[in-house]
Amino acid sequence: MKRAYNFNAGPSALPLPVLEKAQAEFINYNSTGMSVMELSHRSKDFEQILENAKNLLKELLDIPDTYEILFLQGGASLQFSMVPMNFLGTDQTAAYALTGSWSEKALKEAKKEGKTAVAASTSEGKYRSIPKQADIILPEEDIAYLHITSNNTIYGTQWHEYPSFEGVDLIADMSSDILCKKIDINQFSLIYAGAQKNLGPSGVTLVILKKELLDRIPDNLPTMLDYRTHVKNNSLYHTPPTFGIYMLSLVLEWVKEQGGVDAIQKHNEHKASLLYECMELYPDFYRPHADKDSRSIMNVTFTLPNEELTKSFLQQAKEKGFVGLAGHRSVGGCRASIYNAVPLEACEALASFMKEFRQANVTVSEI
Ligand SMILES: *Cc1c(COP(=O)(O)O)cnc(C)c1O
Repeated sequence: MKRAYNFNAGPSALPLPVLEKAQAEFINYNSTGMSVMELSHRSKDFEQILENAKNLLKELLDIPDTYEILFLQGGASLQFSMVPMNFLGTDQTAAYALTGSWSEKALKEAKKEGKTAVAASTSEGKYRSIPKQADIILPEEDIAYLHITSNNTIYGTQWHEYPSFEGVDLIADMSSDILCKKIDINQFSLIYAGAQKNLGPSGVTLVILKKELLDRIPDNLPTMLDYRTHVKNNSLYHTPPTFGIYMLSLVLEWVKEQGGVDAIQKHNEHKASLLYECMELYPDFYRPHADKDSRSIMNVTFTLPNEELTKSFLQQAKEKGFVGLAGHRSVGGCRASIYNAVPLEACEALASFMKEFRQANVTVSEI
């Protein structure tokens, strides 16, 4: 069996050993005579899966005991609302750094909950870059938090240095780059991520939040939208996405086996460099969307000299077995999503194809 060269943006590639382990345990998990999907979420076996996932996250991301780890539903998109509902006080302003479509969506939901301010935006430059610390202007008012999107899945940009302001809680949507590189958790008050890019299948949303934040939550929120509900019940207030959490735990075990986040980061940087080097070699043919100092090691975005070539590139890539290379429908062009589970071999094959395609079409573009 040949596995596809999967460059899907999300849901996306999962590590083969994870899929194989899940397959081996599929109908009889840990001698229970049941699939994980058939276990009670109150059973010892499932409790262990949940604890294992939490412990692995603590270990891999070096999360101190001053933080809570939650597994929720509703995707990163529900966090766009939950964050302001829980932490944007009546007399406060929530600051947002706009670096792409997902941050715009996060801001849109926050506006429904209270006062907001755009602290920085790179929209005028077509979201090719990430703001520098000095470009971020916080409003004078009492600030509830500063929200950033750590990796911009659609535009292919990524924060390499996170902003930091004395006394301001930093909240990050890390849906498309969590666990791709080393971070210092202490810089953040809350991190959220839909699982379907770097952590597992869709249906689970990871939230890591500072315990002291919980004191700020108002008492009138719907039970399910109040973080305290899930903290108090260890993510078991209602039926959690049990199979998704199990898959996530297997992905975390795989990350650990790879040598942890440091090793994964080196691997990711190497994978990304193969594609960026190709663009640097032929800058007139493969045109990167992101500015060099802002480019992402997770989503590599580029266009060809014209629509026709872009189309033909995508068509031929498809025929060669490369999946998911079309850019997001809102921006077009090409995008290779090279999350943690995308093997080096897939990136090598894509880089070779890019060179071949350019060789075969270079004269066309020069006319
Ligand atoms: C994919 C993505 C989302 C949306 O996640 P859902 O889980 O589908 O709601 C939000 N933010 C970023 C940065 C993403 O990449």
